[in-house]
Amino acid sequence: MSGEIYAQALSRLDKAASYAKINKEAVEKLKFPKACLEVSIPVRMDNGSLRIFTGYRVHHNDLRGPTKGGIRFHPNVSLDEVKSLAFWMTIKCAVVGIPYGGGKGGVIVDPKELSRMELERLSRGYIQQIASFIGPDTDIPAPDVYTNSMIMGWMMDEYSKIVRRLSPAVITGKPIPLGGSQGREDATSRGGYYCIKELEKIKSWNPKKMRVAVQGFGNAGQFIAEMLHRDGYQVVALSDSKGGIYRPQGLDIPSVIHVKNKSKELQAVYCKDSVCEVVDATRITNEELLELDVDILIPAALENQITKKNAPRIKASVIVELANGPTTIDADDILKEKNILVIPDILANAGGVTVSYFEWVQNKSGYYWDLPTIHQRLHEIMLREFKNVFSLMESHKTDMRTAAYIHALNRHAEAVVALGTQDYFSAQTISRAENVTA
Ligand code: NAD
Repeated sequence: MSGEIYAQALSRLDKAASYAKINKEAVEKLKFPKACLEVSIPVRMDNGSLRIFTGYRVHHNDLRGPTKGGIRFHPNVSLDEVKSLAFWMTIKCAVVGIPYGGGKGGVIVDPKELSRMELERLSRGYIQQIASFIGPDTDIPAPDVYTNSMIMGWMMDEYSKIVRRLSPAVITGKPIPLGGSQGREDATSRGGYYCIKELEKIKSWNPKKMRVAVQGFGNAGQFIAEMLHRDGYQVVALSDSKGGIYRPQGLDIPSVIHVKNKSKELQAVYCKDSVCEVVDATRITNEELLELDVDILIPAALENQITKKNAPRIKASVIVELANGPTTIDADDILKEKNILVIPDILANAGGVTVSYFEWVQNKSGYYWDLPTIHQRLHEIMLREFKNVFSLMESHKTDMRTAAYIHALNRHAEAVVALGTQDYFSAQTISRAENVTA
């Protein structure tokens, strides 16, 4: 049985399919994940006790290439969530046209409760359990919520020990000295940033007049806030799992990042004439942040944050989804009615998987690219696909999410049709092109 999140993900698929003439078999194939693995991970804790954690890895679809997707460490991880995230990866890789299918993994754990050594044992233990399910040509994990480059390094090291050869291409998002790519760390945000810059041109925005709120202040949230702040955008609100801060005149982002990473909690910080001083910013809740009077709202935390309950009160005119699945399907309709432009997750955060693809290509070829090359290639892909999706949105008179799904489904359908569909197999005549062995 499909869970709630997966069912929601599928209903978007049906909606997009109803807009465009897409082969039915192509749509049907996407409704079923290829394989789902559930594992138990025994971990010896520092105090000598044994804890058993539950983990998952899902291959959604590998028609266009090996499955690809992050690993999440979070107490709310469930098979339903991992299946949905894997499904979005299939769609996302097709949106940006990289040769991957979709996968995802997760472990039910609050990593903040573990010591560093317990975290390493859990990361290595997870790989021991899923080693036969992943591989450089089959399924390639990456970081996601509460996993980082060091964890990817431990995982690659563990996999290499199991297969008895160094295998950097099995996982992406690694530290650079272990085969990671230049530019991977900020790639998710950079992809979203390129989308915002293109919209800035289309809408003739003056960045200095644009007010931005960012929900979630981890990898994705921090880099996007920093990039926009550097360009003069006023980032007026930020939040993390413990709550948010709001300063209508704008926050000094480098200072906030400094304090957040030192204290592990957001505090109100403002930098004046290069002297950093802590000033009062209003403390707000995560719910309040979403409803602030801003121009751009950037959800960069978890799923299901914008719902039918709060969507009617959202004031931003543009939402850029750096998080995966932050908007529920019933909220989508409300946002559309309110004429709010949503740059959907499957496009806005696709920079991460795109540079992961670059990392994998570099690992396989053994030839490493410099940062300007990464940025230029990422920019090329993001710009091309932003324009493709934007023009599909206009031609189909729909929202940008549906347009992105149509774009992905067209690409996926090309692969399905290339293997033959009912139209081909039930045809009575053989075309000249097929008649090669006659
Ligand atoms: P992260 O672990 O670095 O950061 C997550 C942030 O969200 C943290 O600041 C945390 O405090 C905050 N958070 C947690 N619960 C929250 C809540 N209830 N309200 C507000 N904030 C909360 O993770 P990340 O890599 O930045 O991922 C964030 C989102 O971006 C996820 O949806 C992830 O799937 C998506 N994403 C990440 C990547 C990537 O490369 N890192 C790529 C694509 C998509």
